[in-house]
Amino acid sequence: MQLASPSLHPNVEKFLKEPKKLLINGQWVEAANGKTFATVNPATKEVLCHVAEGDAEDIDKAVKAARAALNGPWSKVSPSQRGQLLYRLADLIEQNAEELAQLETLDNGKPIRETSNADVPLTVDHFRYYAGWATKIYGQTIPVSVPNYFNYTKREPVGVVGQIIPWNFPLLMAAWKLGAALACGNTVVLKPAEQTPLSAIRLGELIMEAGFPEGVVNIVTGFGEMAGQPLVEHYDVDKIAFTGSTEIGRLIMQKAAGTLKKISLELGGKSPNIILPDADMSRAIPGALSGIFFNQGQVCCAGSRLYVHKKVYDNVLSDMVSHAQKIKVGNGLLSDTEMGPLVSSEQFSRVTDYIDIGKKEGAQIISAVREEEALEQGYFVTPTVFSEVTDDMTIAQEEIFGPVLAAMPFEDIDDLVERANRTTYGLAAGVWTQDVSKAHRIADRIRAGTVWVNCYNVFDAASPFGGYKQSGIGREMGSYALELYTEVKSVWINIR
Ligand code: ADP
Repeated sequence: MQLASPSLHPNVEKFLKEPKKLLINGQWVEAANGKTFATVNPATKEVLCHVAEGDAEDIDKAVKAARAALNGPWSKVSPSQRGQLLYRLADLIEQNAEELAQLETLDNGKPIRETSNADVPLTVDHFRYYAGWATKIYGQTIPVSVPNYFNYTKREPVGVVGQIIPWNFPLLMAAWKLGAALACGNTVVLKPAEQTPLSAIRLGELIMEAGFPEGVVNIVTGFGEMAGQPLVEHYDVDKIAFTGSTEIGRLIMQKAAGTLKKISLELGGKSPNIILPDADMSRAIPGALSGIFFNQGQVCCAGSRLYVHKKVYDNVLSDMVSHAQKIKVGNGLLSDTEMGPLVSSEQFSRVTDYIDIGKKEGAQIISAVREEEALEQGYFVTPTVFSEVTDDMTIAQEEIFGPVLAAMPFEDIDDLVERANRTTYGLAAGVWTQDVSKAHRIADRIRAGTVWVNCYNVFDAASPFGGYKQSGIGREMGSYALELYTEVKSVWINIR
């Protein structure tokens, strides 16, 4: 493994030279308390730059700016103009794709081949998709039975929306939040994750360059308790949209109850990936590998529980392990890197603790543990496959959010479905089989917001994503997200 950094885009170098500020009412300002925090490159543990550390005072200013924009300039922007602004933003992201991809790789650690081929292009697509929706959000005329009344509905923006996002797909999660909210005519206060604030800040610059009025999008960087929580509790925020851990999601629901805010939550998972004996293994094995190891396993819908039919279990596992050993782990900036470091030292400890718990509870690591010196320079954890796992073990129940797979055999489909559903989560599942009836039957019975058949981790801005059970509330993406960001008003006219 090499760790030499290839040269950076001149704009990235320039961007990192200056400390980063908050975007409030179209201006870049320091935090009211003057504090900053360091954001770190997890491949090298080096500080990338310092970022303003916002707190309740900044959140209050940002909410006031968002309210003023909602009632003022933004209310005069037509749906078609809103769409044009979103298209312009998508074009600007595309024009700055290389720079954004590098920033994302530096701040999060994920491989440049992923930020270039997935995070950034999916972000562009996402804004274009919702740009199209801006002119297509309308109500109904309703044939009420009360005589002499005309009744219609309108879909109005919810208002000022607080959006709190995680560090695993920093730019794309900002897009998932902002696209639908802005298309529907809301104004926003966005709180990026403290581990990865940089791409959201650069996005803020592009939002202003695209011509959005001041105060429509405000970005307050900072920590969860100091900046996120005041946003959740603020009396003048109408809705909170959150993506992150189930633990914090639960806390947000409690805090939002004080002002009875609308909430949507996209939380954790422990998704089953199921390989039937008749599966096309040339697709199932790479699919199951990327299902867990994509983004270093830091994916809410990661296929972290692998159920393989007993007849093929040994062969599938030995093939998977030999593929897993070949995954190129290293500095994400190198073009051939397939897996980068975990995002932070906290995440590194959390994942390595789970690996220890797995061993203590009697599961066995069947992938060779790599102990290369170069891996010590960053928060690297190599692909880890556990066998001899039982459903009740901690590593089969709790979300690890790292490159750790818990593999288990099964024999009977009914039993398998019961085991797959025996979790508090319900975000996603995968099924690998060539038998179309079995695929549909299993897909029907799995309690999860997404089921992938003969594929995994496929996304499109047009298709909804979200969780059953403790994996969340509401659906993002597609037309479903419009429901999160609009209020329905029923208007009655007496026509007598
Ligand atoms: P993780 O544990 O993977 O870091 P979190 O759920 O803690 O994920 O974080 C997701 C987002 O929620 C981040 O932007 C974080 O700052 C924010 N956050 C954390 N704690 C709180 C809180 N108490 N109130 C509001 N936001 C929070």
